[in-house]
Amino acid sequence: MKISQEKLEELRKIFKEDFKAELIDQELHDAAFNLTGFYGTLAKMATKDIDNHLRLEKEPGGWAINDEWGTCSFCGLYMSMQESWFDKFGYKCKFCLRAVNEGIIPSSVCRNKGRWFSFEDLKDKFGINQNTARSLIRKGELRARVILNDAGKPHFTVFLREENYQFLKIEKDVPPSEMEEYDQQVAVWAEDFKRRRDEENKIYEKKAKSKI
Ligand SMILES: [Zn+2]
Repeated sequence: MKISQEKLEELRKIFKEDFKAELIDQELHDAAFNLTGFYGTLAKMATKDIDNHLRLEKEPGGWAINDEWGTCSFCGLYMSMQESWFDKFGYKCKFCLRAVNEGIIPSSVCRNKGRWFSFEDLKDKFGINQNTARSLIRKGELRARVILNDAGKPHFTVFLREENYQFLKIEKDVPPSEMEEYDQQVAVWAEDFKRRRDEENKIYEKKAKSKI
């Protein structure tokens, strides 16, 4: 991508004023090149997210994805993603999908990692190891939600913040997550995209009519 001399000088000014860095021309070119690559990647990701948002308006229940392998956005496990699903709560493996659909896991926790804990989180954040956690579950002090696999065996165990905050001595609620905020941003971009598309269509129709 060709970057104009004018833009390069603007970037040079930013580096100088904000980062107190005097860049030689080669460094300036490298920085500009890296930035365009970085923003190009971000733009591609955002475009995909906007596309998904628009598709969800037509297919609110989401759609099947049959990837050979992938990472479930809920349990975080890298696994066979056959029969997995994408909807507004993310890309989920078939076990997490079923757990959400059956209400084992409330959908409100899917996009906010602060609203639940795994066994690993209990250990990392509260120093409760898995054996202790299991005995606390048996005693009814910790409440667990268990996502089952097709064989009816535990696939993943979830401790909801709202069911365990008193025992863990933490706040009941958490602020919106970055993911939730990002989803809202995508919704704004999608509305903006639709508005611009409608305007362009109107201009196109006007042009087409004036030719008749
Ligand atoms: Zn999963």
